[in-house]
Amino acid sequence: MRALALLLLAFPAIAASEAAETQAALDRISAQSMRGHLSFLASDLLEGRASPSRGLDIAAEYIAAQFRGIGLEEAGDDGYFQTAKMATQEQSKQGWRVTMQFHGKELALNDEDVAGNAGKAVKLSFIPVFKVMKDGDITPDLENAAVVMDTTSKSLLRKVRAAKPAAIVTILSRKRRFPARLTEAGSERSALVQVYVRNDEWSEMYAALPAGRTEAKLSLGAPGPVETPALLRNVVGVLRGSDPVLRDTYIFLTAHYDHIGVKPDGDGDRIYNGANDDGSGTVSVMEIAAALASMEHRPKRSIVFMTVFGEEKGLIGSQYYGKHPIFPFAKTVANLNLEQLGRTDDLAGAQVGVVSVTGFNYSDLGKTLFDAGEKTGIRIREDEKRSDDFFDRSDNLSFAEQGIPAHTIGVAFEFPDYHEVGDEWRKIDYTNMAKVDRMIATALLMIANSAVAPKWNAELEKTAPYRKAIHP
Ligand SMILES: [Zn+2]
Repeated sequence: MRALALLLLAFPAIAASEAAETQAALDRISAQSMRGHLSFLASDLLEGRASPSRGLDIAAEYIAAQFRGIGLEEAGDDGYFQTAKMATQEQSKQGWRVTMQFHGKELALNDEDVAGNAGKAVKLSFIPVFKVMKDGDITPDLENAAVVMDTTSKSLLRKVRAAKPAAIVTILSRKRRFPARLTEAGSERSALVQVYVRNDEWSEMYAALPAGRTEAKLSLGAPGPVETPALLRNVVGVLRGSDPVLRDTYIFLTAHYDHIGVKPDGDGDRIYNGANDDGSGTVSVMEIAAALASMEHRPKRSIVFMTVFGEEKGLIGSQYYGKHPIFPFAKTVANLNLEQLGRTDDLAGAQVGVVSVTGFNYSDLGKTLFDAGEKTGIRIREDEKRSDDFFDRSDNLSFAEQGIPAHTIGVAFEFPDYHEVGDEWRKIDYTNMAKVDRMIATALLMIANSAVAPKWNAELEKTAPYRKAIHP
């Protein structure tokens, strides 16, 4: 009886001390500490952290060293590293030949007017030509046909690819090259050939073609790519939860640590430092991990801190994780992905004390972030159009595609030095970033300590593709 009374008396004290502990952890998130980390990760020495590059590897080692210092559990196949066996594919610029025939006229082009991309060497002879217009229809059955178009619209390209043509020929007014690609080593190579051509006579012939299926025929010879093996790494550490059941469920805090490397030529500064994109997200992951790991009373669920490679090459590192999960997706409840948290000088106006959440109302995580913002003095910017547009443009998508409620949090998605050499660490608003990170850490604790897992908004049509992915 006496013991019980003492216990009851003790409870409010425990609650009060835990609240104090939480506050102490949040207070550890330090603008100065992040300034230190970022001045290294975004330094010229790391040469813009391209995937793959030595600068990227040095960044990975640095992040792993911080995780080690914090005392996170190692979660990779090699300490904190999840090693991805990849290959770079550089498309040969020699050996291209594309010919179109229409109404008795034949136009043949070679390397001078053609840039292309093919998973392997391909030869196609006299295949039917299908002309796709900007908002035009696409017949579902385009197998063995060549699609010709004069736009680089990504959404249209996605629709065209889904129809599985043998080749896509895009007619452009200026010459473009396909950059080197990064793919998983040993993965199946697509037979689809993609070609850009720039030639006035082709433009004329294209203009003369009717929309849809045409009587034109296309022949094409494409050289295969040159492949070089490359090892790349996601950096993964875990803060193990304290609840006997919930500790086997996982919340991911992610950011991409790669950037776009070095400008091939030109005078002056050629290094794309990527301080805001996404050095800011990377140092925020490290800083929030350090803060939460300092707590004696651990959150109930486990929190996984992961920085990924290859975002700039098309979400390659997070997609790799999607194919090779370390923790079961059925036990993964949420992903908060951090992008561009450091610059407040958004093209749409100063964003101090304000964040955007992509796909804000796609899941109930939007509300959790809103509540965390109320507690920490951060306003969630409501800009449905912009927020939804950015939903599928960062690594949260790789989790969403697995059915896991996942959002990207950013301060300025569009800022003056975006993908320019001027994205440097001195231009970051560290005080604001620390404040934003306290909001994010608060949200993580709310999710981690709730017995109810986040859910997609079932009333929203836009979430349908993500709701469908169910893991047993
Ligand atoms: Zn980014």
